[in-house]
Order: sequence, then structure tokens, then C-alpha cells
Amino acid sequence: MKLSKAIGALACALYFLAAVGIRAQPAPANVSGDRLVHADDDKNNWLTHGRTYGEERFSPLDQINPASLDRLNLAWHADLETERGQEATPIVVDGVMYVSTAWSKVFALDAATGKQRWAYDPQVPGEWAVHACCDVVNRGVAVYDGKVFIGTLDGRLIALDSSTGTPVWETLTIDRSYPYTITGAPRVVKGKVLIGNGGAEMGVRGYITAYDAATGKQVWRFYTVPGDPSKPFENPIMEIAAKTWSGQWWKFGGGGTVWDSMAYDSELDLLYIGVGNGSPWNQKIRSDGKGDNLFLSSIVALRPDTGEYVWHYQTTPGESWDFTATQHMILADLQIDGQTRKVLMQAPKNGFFYVLDRKNGKLISAENYVPINWATGVDKQTGRPIEEPQARFANNPNGLFVSMPGPTGGHNWQPMSFSPRLGLVYIPVVVSGFPYAADASMTADRSQAFNAGVQFGAAVLPTDKKARDAVKSSSFGELLAWDPIRQKAAWSVRHPGIWNGGVLSTAGNLVFQGTQSGEIAAYDAAAGTKLWSRPTQSAVMAPPITYAIDGEQYIAVLVGFGGAIGLTAGEMSLGTFPKPNKPRLLAFKIGGNDKLSPDAVVMTAPSNSPPPKMGDEKMISMGNDAYHLYCGMCHGVGAVSGGVTPDLRHSKMIGDLDAFNAVVREGVLSSRGMAAFGTVLTDSQTEAIRAYIIDRAYHPIPEDEN
Ligand code: CA
Repeated sequence: MKLSKAIGALACALYFLAAVGIRAQPAPANVSGDRLVHADDDKNNWLTHGRTYGEERFSPLDQINPASLDRLNLAWHADLETERGQEATPIVVDGVMYVSTAWSKVFALDAATGKQRWAYDPQVPGEWAVHACCDVVNRGVAVYDGKVFIGTLDGRLIALDSSTGTPVWETLTIDRSYPYTITGAPRVVKGKVLIGNGGAEMGVRGYITAYDAATGKQVWRFYTVPGDPSKPFENPIMEIAAKTWSGQWWKFGGGGTVWDSMAYDSELDLLYIGVGNGSPWNQKIRSDGKGDNLFLSSIVALRPDTGEYVWHYQTTPGESWDFTATQHMILADLQIDGQTRKVLMQAPKNGFFYVLDRKNGKLISAENYVPINWATGVDKQTGRPIEEPQARFANNPNGLFVSMPGPTGGHNWQPMSFSPRLGLVYIPVVVSGFPYAADASMTADRSQAFNAGVQFGAAVLPTDKKARDAVKSSSFGELLAWDPIRQKAAWSVRHPGIWNGGVLSTAGNLVFQGTQSGEIAAYDAAAGTKLWSRPTQSAVMAPPITYAIDGEQYIAVLVGFGGAIGLTAGEMSLGTFPKPNKPRLLAFKIGGNDKLSPDAVVMTAPSNSPPPKMGDEKMISMGNDAYHLYCGMCHGVGAVSGGVTPDLRHSKMIGDLDAFNAVVREGVLSSRGMAAFGTVLTDSQTEAIRAYIIDRAYHPIPEDEN
């Protein structure tokens, strides 16, 4: 052997040893800014929320493919202690999984075995749940430079040591005198942790804040809507935005919360944020029914170093239907009319699929991806929707507008996925309408209420079996494969429930999605043929991820129902998901041999007979109004629980004044998420709510729907 060859072999061996050494004991959470920018090349890992800064949720792993699928089985599972909704995307870094669950808890696990390394509970006060529009969920953590970042339901951003789960720093991101929550996943861009918040159903002003990842010190904050114009504007763009508002919006908060989506283009150095609905929804109350109300329902591009505004595109000017633009955004390079275009794609709640030029925010194309009736299309010159006048329900105070889509949107927070190989976007679609009726009595000082300026009592299903069947059968879910260049469907698969899981696509030519009816399935990415499925025992809302360890590819997903539909939809969600709700983390691999314990015992039908009716029609009607303002968002419209939170119609407490008051007025169950309402409800309102619930306990629900 020549010397040079020998040295080469030695160098190879040393390199190999070093590589083995690094693999055996990698520095924990060794995620640098450079590694995040090149996350796509890091194919064994899932380093950030959407896997890459472009948020494609596409993995180049292909060991799991149509030829190996029949051997894809459960590798391990981890039971979770809560019964609330699970929405998180796990992060996987060099064999370690970091995942958040309901109540903003964080777990680190060995991603090959599911063995727990550490757990962290931020001790969110149970009563803070009253400020959450849509369950005490959390959509994930960020991992960077040895730290794990979690935004908590009660508004804190906490950095944990990734080896031990011990807090390194903690900062309060909100003013606790307002009903803000955090449910979204932070992102880390250029050493800064970015986090927004929720609360636009309750009365807040939206913003996003950047914190130094090392110290937790605030670097910048960008408000999405203007504040009180008698005070100085935070920046010149807020002064411009204020010209698009009327009335006294700041007293209601205005809304525009940045509660979920972000994306980052490192070449253009632009951070994209999705902005939410108006607070309240009803624009007549919020802004005298006038103006575009910037930057509600917009995609806004910012400089990540400073938070400086660069451009915006508003999907729904003068938003009045909870049509957020907080839905998942995907960055891609598409060949359009012979040119490579750097695009941003979003399927926001309003039902249109948008393809924008992400350099400048200009509209390239927009077509509806679900049936819609509030607009007839999008004007290609102005980028504005062409509205149907009757959709502005607040102009017709005694009428209803049954809109397609409704507040669930044609697509909600459940992430979609983009396969660059096939050029298709896979969207977890909702096909459902909602009856909007104005609540003209709304005031700005109503706390602990679902303060949308809309009457939720109008969404109670009719008693007539034929009519209710008609409503229920017109609502369903779909996995929709969308061609963003042609702006049309390539294929779709229909699901019975509307509230299905987020989506993953892979180089194995597969699309993975869980469903409300309790399974995870794989589909042929080009044709939509269902190729594989396994029961999950409970409903799946969360998106699956994939990663590899020691040459084995895994698919992992959180299981557990809840969120807006699990809590609020009432009769609409009855009978659509397996009960009891049993949240878990599942991981599958080729040749996996773990098993879920046999189906847990099905909850027996409640046998309590309701207490005697009380109150007259007027009292019950007052109870209906108060119930839908203060109780319905967690216990379901029409006092019918979907099955995640207690069904009050079957509670013994409704027949016992003292017990009812102890829970509702004094908050004896606040640690479990039931806040005290003694300061916001009068005694007569509380009694009226009790009378309404008892009345509803006599309301027959067909056997087959339970
Ligand atoms: Ca909303």
C-alpha cells in the first residue's frame, strides 16, 4: 500500500470513528441557524415546525413506500395523561423527539423507542382555559442551540435546557389583563424566537414578538392592527393601517392575532406571518361596517431582524366571518407560464387557494378549493374577492346568512403538505356552512365571553330529523390534492367527519393523514388510492411527521380529539369520533411489533334523568343567550358536548343550585379548566343558564347520533 493510500484509509477510518462517535453521543439539540436554513438536506430529521423554513412538510425519506407499506406497523406508543385535544407537530433532532401536548406540557423522548427522557409542565393555571377559543391545545415547540422553546396557554415563552427540560429563561409575552392565549409553535429565525398569540374571539389586539434565543430579551414587536389613535402609533405603517378603520375598534381589541402560521425565505430574508380575524367578527360593531381593516386576514412580509413591514396581501378585506389568514403557508418555486416563480401558497379559511409572488405579495392566481357562496371569485387585477352583498349579515340584523364556508373555514390550522416531486398540495379540507346572525347587543366590556358579535344559538341543529340530517350530510371532510399551477383538484378522498388531521407527503410517493373517525392512512400521492391504514382508537387532528434513526424510517403522530370542533360543535360532532378520547403519541416503522391495548371500554350512555324543568320561556331564552356567550365554546352549542368536555345536560349539578353555583360562580373546578364566572354573570343569568341546560336535557337526540 502506498503511503498516500494508507493515509487516506486512516483518514477515512478516523472520519468514520468520528462520525460513529458523533452519532452515539450527539450534542443535544445541536440546531444552528445554518442547519435550519438547510433543513431540507437533513433528511433524517424534522428540525422545525414545517420541517423546513418553506414549511413544505415533505420528507425526502423513501424507505416507507408502496412496496414496503404492508409491513408498516406500530413501533412504539406513549400514553398521554390528558383527555384534551392534541395538535402538535413533534420535532426530531438526531434521535431525540421534542413534543408538546395539551396544557402546553413538553416531553423529550428517545425517538426510536418512545422512552421518556424528561417532561416539563409549565403549570398553566386551569382557569386560563376560559380565554381559549378552541381548547387548551398546543401546536408544537421550536428547538435551537441546545434549547427547546414553548409558548404556554397563559402567554409565557419558556426556553428549556434540551438535555434536562429545566427552564433557562422565561418571559411573559402578553398583558394578562387581556384574554390572550398562546397555542401556536414558535419558530427560530436568525437567533430570534418568534411567537404570536390568540384571543380574537375574546377581545384582543394581535401582534408577533421576536425574542433573543439566548437571553429571552425582546428584540422587536409588530402589531397587526392599529391601537387607540389618540396615542402615538408604534410605527408609520400603523398610521397607514388606521386609515382603513372606523368607529372605536381599539375598545374591542380589533383582532388580527398571529396564532399559527409563519414561513421564512432566507434568500429574500423575508419572514411571512398569517394574520387572523377581526375582534369581534361582526364588522358593523368593530369598524362601523366600513374599511378594509388592515392587516386583518392578511399575509404580511416582515424583516426578521427588525420586524419592519415589507408587503402585505389581504385575503378578506373588512373581514366579518372569522375568515383568518393564519392557515399554513408553503413556499415553493413553481413553473408558471414558462417562468420560475418564487411563490407563497395558502388555503385560508375563506375558501380560495392563493398563489402569491413572495417577493412582492402580488397575486398570481386564486380559485376556490371548496364550494363557496360568500363571493363569486377573486378579481385578478385588484386581488380582492368579489363579494355577494347578502354575505354581510350585519347589514340585515334580523336575518341569517348561511355561509359556505363558515368559521371552521374551508381549511383550518391542520397543516397541508406540498410534494415538489409531483407539484401537488395536499389540503385537509372542511366542507361545512354556518348560519351567521348578528348579535347587535354586543359590548366591549364583556369579559370571559365568546364575544364575536354573532349569535351562536343560531347554530343549534333543528329538532326535525330530516332537517338535521340535511345539515349533517352537507358537512364532511376531504383530503384534497390540489394542482397550484392549474388551480384545480387532482384527486380527493372524502371523510365522514369534518375535523381530520394535518398532512405529510414523502419521497416514498405517499401522503399520510389521520382522521376524525380514528385511523391513520397512507395514500398514493399521485392517484389518491388508499394503500394502508391502522386504527388509532381516538380521533387524529395533528399532522404526522417522519424521520430516520439508524437506517430505519419512522412515521409519528399525536392522537386525541378536541380543538374548536371537539369542544364547540355540539350535536354536529356527536357520533363522528371514537369515545372515550384517549390521547397518545404513536410511531410506526417497517416491521414494528408494538400493539395498542385493546379498545378502552366505551363510555356508557348517561342514565341520569333530568331534573324538573324550571323557568318560563323568557328565562330559558335569556339562558340560551348567556349560555352561548359564556359556556358554549367549551361545552358545545345547544348544551350538547361533542364528547371531549362534560355534557352539562347529564350533569347532576344542574339539579342542585348550590353545587351549580359552586362550580359556575365560585370556580371549585378551576384547576381542571372551569373558571369562576361569579364576577361576570349575574345571579339571574346563572339561574337562566341552568334553566336553559335543563330544558336542553329534555331535547331528544336520535339514538344513532350519540
Ligand atoms: Ca378565530
